[in-house]
Amino acid sequence: MNERFAEKMRDASVAKDTRLLGDFSVIYCRGNHPDAARDPLESEGAALGVYGRKQPVVCNECAELLRYAEKRRAYCPKDPKPFCSYCDTHCYSGEMREFMRDVMRYSGPRSVTRGHAMDSVRHLIEGRRAKREAQARAAVDD
Ligand SMILES: [Zn+2]
Repeated sequence: MNERFAEKMRDASVAKDTRLLGDFSVIYCRGNHPDAARDPLESEGAALGVYGRKQPVVCNECAELLRYAEKRRAYCPKDPKPFCSYCDTHCYSGEMREFMRDVMRYSGPRSVTRGHAMDSVRHLIEGRRAKREAQARAAVDD
């Protein structure tokens, strides 16, 4: 395994974000891939114990997304990392970006009752700030 990846995964905020993505993928997979066979995720993040006892159980397609997302999160060059949807660096490939957007859109509202209410609030607040900052930048450019 890549040493840099392993080191990043030991970072508390990276691990937390990765677990959140795991939770979201589980919610999405259950709702959108009802007939798919699901297995506990096999990934480098999972091997490092990032998901703790809540190993995501997902289908192959969702596992592929999670493996991809682990890497993108670990190698995110931004510190502090903004929420991906408000970031100006688009590090996801087009296809994966669409997939992740679907997962977020579907699972975000449904995760509030599963212990992620604070994450939603933070997301909302940061979204408003990102919008304000973008407007301020646009005003300067004019
Ligand atoms: Zn799935």
